[in-house]
Amino acid sequence: MASDPPATEKLAPYRRKRNFSRTSEPEGEVGDTEPAAPAPAGRRFVVQRHRARRLHYDVRFEIDGVLVSWAVPKGPTLDPAARHAAFHVEDHPIEYIDFEGVIPAGEYGGGDVIVWDAGTWEPVKTRLDPATAVARGELQAELYGSKLRGRFVLVRTGADSGGKEHWLMLHKRDDFAVPGWDPEQHPRSVLSGRTNDEVLADPDRMWRSDLPAAEASIALKDPASGRPSADELAALEELPASGGHWEVFGRELKVTNLDKVLFPGSAEHQPVTKREFLRYTAQIAPVALPYLAGRALNMHRYPQGAGSKGFWHKELPDWAPDWLTRWQNPDADPGETRTYLVVNEPAALVWAANFGALEWHAWTSMVDRPQQPSYALIDIDPGGSTSWQDVLVLARLHRTAFEHLGMLARPKVTGRRGIQIWVPITRGPSFAETRRWVEQLSKTVGAVVPELLSWKWEVRDRAGKARLDYTQNAINKTLVAPYSARPAPGAPVSMPIGWEELDDPELRPDGFALRTVPQRIAEKGDLFRPLLGTDQTLPRLG
Ligand code: MN
Repeated sequence: MASDPPATEKLAPYRRKRNFSRTSEPEGEVGDTEPAAPAPAGRRFVVQRHRARRLHYDVRFEIDGVLVSWAVPKGPTLDPAARHAAFHVEDHPIEYIDFEGVIPAGEYGGGDVIVWDAGTWEPVKTRLDPATAVARGELQAELYGSKLRGRFVLVRTGADSGGKEHWLMLHKRDDFAVPGWDPEQHPRSVLSGRTNDEVLADPDRMWRSDLPAAEASIALKDPASGRPSADELAALEELPASGGHWEVFGRELKVTNLDKVLFPGSAEHQPVTKREFLRYTAQIAPVALPYLAGRALNMHRYPQGAGSKGFWHKELPDWAPDWLTRWQNPDADPGETRTYLVVNEPAALVWAANFGALEWHAWTSMVDRPQQPSYALIDIDPGGSTSWQDVLVLARLHRTAFEHLGMLARPKVTGRRGIQIWVPITRGPSFAETRRWVEQLSKTVGAVVPELLSWKWEVRDRAGKARLDYTQNAINKTLVAPYSARPAPGAPVSMPIGWEELDDPELRPDGFALRTVPQRIAEKGDLFRPLLGTDQTLPRLG
């Protein structure tokens, strides 16, 4: 949504406080003609507990592509009797919204930061747009966070001689008000469950404020349990073609047929051997784990390689190692799969890869409540005459829809021809309710471009048109997991992307391959990470 002034100008004070002279890179993602990438989910907010020279909470609202920010020394509170001083500080780049980690001492804001709360918000007095409301000195916002709920008011009280704006932050007396509520009694991150002390002791990320915003968040290590060591990877290389025992992530795995070609070559791609696939799996497992853990895994096996016919393998064999987590499906009918693999540690995914599971499909529900999905999925499924441009049109329409709804969602390319959109939801609604919601959303979006879509059940009845396949929202129906390879030459990977990448002319649905993914992760991090731990309900549509 374009607005005045564009995000480029809004971030000027932020940039002035930082030294970009050390890099010749363009500053952030802001293009010449467009403001910063549109918000993926409309209006988000974050509260970061920031121990810099002094402890304070940074309360940031997503408005027109930037984070409009206040520093609140005592923090936001649900106590309606409290009026806490707030200082309007410069807008921050949107990339900072999920930053948790350390800022080097001596740099602007040097210290440690946790994502103390996050969620969505909506302006209460809609007579003014939020940017104008802030400019006029009063923002009323309904917050939908994990800790902060209900109506908050930020109101300007004046400015000091240095021009620093003084505001107050307070909570209205509504259903969410809690007398005496103290933010310091709720000290843990909603992202990691950690305190500032714990993050400082073992930070995952560092914010380099001297770099452009798109590059400023530097991964200090992989999420989850960390990457395989150089020694572990070297040991895999040294095993003979027939295989042997490989110790990785603290488990000893029997790996076999290491020089077998699993993914054929093509004009553009070298063939990929099983050894290479296992190495990739070990490298990606810590990143992919949050999307697999606690969920039954449907394995799409291609023991003879991607050039042959694959098959679904859901039942974990009896002879599988004891240390693998198993789940007995209590609702399995006779003849149906009863015992599923649950990838609760990185080594379990390596085991599945050696077993010939080229594709990983985790359930969208978790094993403790299998009837309640934790993701709503939108599957843009191209037909025979659907062009990539058509797929992008459909994906961008969904981007606009989620922005409008103020919901957090993230796209990924499938590694074949399509795009999926993953929407985290707080568990509660059934698959049927979730499916109805996705159907309603997709039909609303689809009404904009009826010429691109068919709603016919059978492929042959669709006249080559695309389908928005809401029926995937069903128990034991799965879409390919993030970072899973697809059985095709060169091993394309189903890759999370940023919403702004939908506007990148270089983007291709199968443009990320096994050999290039580790480098991309090192550069961009895990773009699905913001989906984790999100408390989000499906709003009423229409
Ligand atoms: Mn701060």
